[in-house]
Amino acid sequence: MSELTELGVAAIRDGVSTGTFSAVEVAEAFNANVAAAATLNAFIVTTPDKALDAARAVDANRAAGKPLGKLGGVPIGMKDLFATAGVQTTAASHMLEGFIPPYESTVSGKLWAEGAGMLGKLNLDQFAMGSSNETSYFGNVISPWRRSDGGNAALAPGGSSGGSSTAVSARLCPAATGTDTGGSIRQPAAFTGISGIKPTYGRCSRWGIVAFASSLDQAGPMARDVTDCAIMLEAMSGFDPKDSTSLDLPVPAWEAGLNPDMRGKKVGVPVEYRMDGMDADVAASWEQGIAWLRDAGATIVEISLPHTKYALPAYYIIAPAEASSNLARYDGVRYGLRDLPDNAGLQDMYAATRAAGFGAEVKRRILIGTYVLSAGFYDAYYTQAQKVRTLISRDFARAFETVDVILAPTAPTAAFALGEKSADPLAMYLNDVFAVPASLAGLPAMSVPAGLNREGLPLGLQVIGRPFDEQGVLNAGLAIERRAGFTARPEKWW
Ligand code: GLN
Repeated sequence: MSELTELGVAAIRDGVSTGTFSAVEVAEAFNANVAAAATLNAFIVTTPDKALDAARAVDANRAAGKPLGKLGGVPIGMKDLFATAGVQTTAASHMLEGFIPPYESTVSGKLWAEGAGMLGKLNLDQFAMGSSNETSYFGNVISPWRRSDGGNAALAPGGSSGGSSTAVSARLCPAATGTDTGGSIRQPAAFTGISGIKPTYGRCSRWGIVAFASSLDQAGPMARDVTDCAIMLEAMSGFDPKDSTSLDLPVPAWEAGLNPDMRGKKVGVPVEYRMDGMDADVAASWEQGIAWLRDAGATIVEISLPHTKYALPAYYIIAPAEASSNLARYDGVRYGLRDLPDNAGLQDMYAATRAAGFGAEVKRRILIGTYVLSAGFYDAYYTQAQKVRTLISRDFARAFETVDVILAPTAPTAAFALGEKSADPLAMYLNDVFAVPASLAGLPAMSVPAGLNREGLPLGLQVIGRPFDEQGVLNAGLAIERRAGFTARPEKWW
């Protein structure tokens, strides 16, 4: 029943609950697709038995007339940044290779409690630092997409959630978890023609997620469409006393609240996002998105977010600063890699472990982070960046006095080739230019596929919303999805 892998989250959940097919049949079909797609390198480990065990439990519950959960019978991919009890969790770093957590992250635990099963742990940029998946210790993921010009250049699946984007796009799973610190759900979703939402900071517990930059890190779903994202997000969200920044708010019924009617809504279009030399196809897709939302009944309003141009530099100070502090725990003492040279003292052991365990990009971020936090430069960099962060939040707050949501491109370009930017960190960082402002302000933001560029590659549109208004974001996303009618998919070559 290989056609089962054509189904998304809602269709699987509904089909399992009505008995059209069993959860075990679904798990077997996706396990087979995962096993046949090793070339894409989307998974660091596969867990076919976990998927089957969860499916058997759902089928047994159905036979016994028990509730199946919000995701009963839906097998998913888990970004390898979420601690999974008894299953290796690496953050795609040599530092954590072989680490088997004795505990489960809150978000993954919630998904299993709702009847989802795990197909495997998805590859990512090392410690979630990157935009192309090329910083993974386990080798980069390859996007299933190829340019239509006949060239077979291997393309980046985006990052850091590149295993997630590839797995969903290549039909290896109907949905996956992602995390987004500065775009890592939205940019890979855009690169691979799928949907992904980063909720308001605090909606999903960070407990058990390997920390990158704690004031920015947020989990969220990646799936084929807006409805599937809403279903996943409902299962993933909720207050967690184990995360001090968790939002103590009820989880809205986002799926039930989906409504693509934008009449009476105002959509803001930020003038500062229209950058010099903007990719023509990206600019055209943004114009098209504006037209679609107008067609859905929205009023379009030009808005100003004057501090936009400082968002990227502020992000690349704040995120490394927090990372340098978070990653201090990998010292070879308690868990993870230990490199103990002969006759080494404690300091030598720290140094050798960290030199061997971290990849080049992670080291770069730790160096930047410790530099901007050092006594002599703290005020010039870190304090200044925090002030900019406040101004960026204020820009959004002011805009949201007038508009309900903001529409922008997700990324400045479509997917680039592997190797194209990996030697130039600044070029790589520039890819995050449209994603990081919402991250710094903690706002919900999603990417939905809008169409293909002239090379036949997907482009995403980004909807940014008010704090806690995931519903408004999902609804605008749905209005775009209905009009975009995006059905393109990568031709199977793997
Ligand atoms: N690409 C961004 C970075 O490298 C964002 C990563 C993320 O959101 N995890 O920091």
